[in-house]
Amino acid sequence: MRIDLHTHSTFSDGTDTPAQLVAAARAAGLDVVGLMDHDTTAGWQEAAQAARAAGVRLVRGTEISTMWQGRSVHLLSLLQDPTEPGLAQLLHRNQTSRERRARQMVERLAADYPITWQDVAARAGNPQTVGRPHMADALVAAGVFPDRDAAFAGPLSGRGPYYVRLDVPDPVDAVAAVRAAGGVPVLAHPFAAVRGPVLPDDVVRAMAAAGLAALEADHRDHDPAARAHARALAAQLGLPVTGSSDYHGTGKPNRLGENLTAPEVFEALVAQGAVAVV
Ligand code: AMP
Ligand code: FE
Ligand code: FE
Ligand code: ZN
Repeated sequence: MRIDLHTHSTFSDGTDTPAQLVAAARAAGLDVVGLMDHDTTAGWQEAAQAARAAGVRLVRGTEISTMWQGRSVHLLSLLQDPTEPGLAQLLHRNQTSRERRARQMVERLAADYPITWQDVAARAGNPQTVGRPHMADALVAAGVFPDRDAAFAGPLSGRGPYYVRLDVPDPVDAVAAVRAAGGVPVLAHPFAAVRGPVLPDDVVRAMAAAGLAALEADHRDHDPAARAHARALAAQLGLPVTGSSDYHGTGKPNRLGENLTAPEVFEALVAQGAVAVV
């Protein structure tokens, strides 16, 4: 079984529509693919339809933006009930703060670069899911940078004057909200130092106490030391580890299936979810 639990579609910052994503998953020989668009469940329906038709199993979920002391923390929620009001409200608030923050960043960028809010917003599925990758696409289209990576190394860096933080919840609170909605919380790329300062182990321990189900250990942004650290901490906490590609289509070099989750871990996680694997 080839299981890749963490991918993105055009409903957030991926470049494949959910149907294209499912087709790509099939072509990559995956048995199971997880759709984890940032802060939204809007792609679930199209993905489910495509997965049924293609004979690929689909784990519906969301990658939730959270923040601990100014550090961005991504929490995957697998198989939550999308109608549960608490988590639905959390996602709605994240979308609102995402749009507000994106408008602020684009305003700053537009002072120095030839891009507009209209141009950036048009590159996202809707204004509530605009992220820095869409700003990068606008900068690339304007000929300022050759690709997303270069734009992230430049003005989209989290350390520069154009950056505005997302106003999003605490990761421990988010774990509780995911569990309350019957979702299965998995901490995405926890020790990806390339993305900036990472979480202290104590915060991961607090997330585990709040109901965290697993740590993503095998991820391209984890070097061997980060993978080993994730495994050791997960073992201490009695939690399994997952592996995934974090595929974004052509928006990132990540290839489907480049990291995988063990079948027994997959079975243990999906048994905890409120909605079925399609
Ligand atoms: P945001 O949530 O708007 O702050 O943007 C962060 C998102 O940008 C992450 O979820 C990644 O998917 C994406 N990202 C981060 N670094 C890069 C990069 N170098 N190239 C393309 N996408 C990136
Ligand atoms: Fe992303
Ligand atoms: Fe992420
Ligand atoms: Zn992701």
